[in-house]
Amino acid sequence: MSKRNTSGFVPNQLLLDIASLNAGNLSFIETLAATQRLAAAANAGSVRYKLAKGASERQIYTAGNATRLPGSKARFETDKAVADNIVNDAFDFHGLMRDFLKQVFKRDSIDGLGMNLVGTVHYGKSYNNAFWNSMQMTYGDGDKIIFALFVLLDVIGHEMFHGVTEHTSGLEYSGESGALNESMSDVFGVGLRQWAKKLTVDKDSWLVGPGIFMPSIKGKALRSMTNPGTAYNDPKLGKDPQPDHYSKLYTGSSDNGGVHINSGIPNKAFATFAIAVGGNSWDVALPVWFESNCGTNRIDSSADFATFAAKTVDNCTKMFPQHVAALKAAWNGVGVTV
Ligand SMILES: [Zn+2]
Repeated sequence: MSKRNTSGFVPNQLLLDIASLNAGNLSFIETLAATQRLAAAANAGSVRYKLAKGASERQIYTAGNATRLPGSKARFETDKAVADNIVNDAFDFHGLMRDFLKQVFKRDSIDGLGMNLVGTVHYGKSYNNAFWNSMQMTYGDGDKIIFALFVLLDVIGHEMFHGVTEHTSGLEYSGESGALNESMSDVFGVGLRQWAKKLTVDKDSWLVGPGIFMPSIKGKALRSMTNPGTAYNDPKLGKDPQPDHYSKLYTGSSDNGGVHINSGIPNKAFATFAIAVGGNSWDVALPVWFESNCGTNRIDSSADFATFAAKTVDNCTKMFPQHVAALKAAWNGVGVTV
């Protein structure tokens, strides 16, 4: 079993579905092939380029629509803004993720050791994904037919948090532990957006990747945390496959055993808990989740939903005892008994 996240932000299964529904649009087959090449290289440890030792610095490169990583230097930590706003957004969003980890969770970058926050924009031609390869982030421009862009705050938070999980619990990327790994990235990606925009739980959309689709697509985002299964439904994409309750768990073998499908269940438990607590997600709900995945009292890499739920209750009892009842109700509401 792989400990690593071996896919990009857009699940391979969705890329395959889109490719078969849009035979004339080759960018999805190309994206799938490129994503699988990147994943294979990351998992084989054969990512060959060297990056400088970390000081939690931002280093944004551009691939110039080619596929060589990291590409050419576009904007580093002390550089002024450049003409390309995709570069500037990536620079700003990498900085917000760094500050979010540091200020809210006292964590020094992705690895806890000041790893530089490296990203490459304009990867490939019409590349429809964003990708973390254990060293850096990579962002395509999208085909501009279905996908609009990938340099979005919660997408960046999602992908980088795969790095944080990799360096902490190391949740195995298949079955329920894999769905938890995916859910952690959604929780902290959306959490980053809420924290950066100072949105209380009642003011956020709880969508993962709003803005990722072109306006012509019938879809609000890639996933919904409060209403899993309702994010998109379009002839070019198919329908959002996420269940919202453990009784509807996907048990097939595609998507590494449903890692991007079943993540809807813990996602909904988190959103329900955070909304029940009220106020800022980063005051109570996110710290409980962080401690349970990344702290000294955390799950191990093979945890299933019930094990993780029990761990959150244990940590909440120590950290915020007044909110334990709401937490248990949230887990029980999605059919995970605590
Ligand atoms: Zn992911």
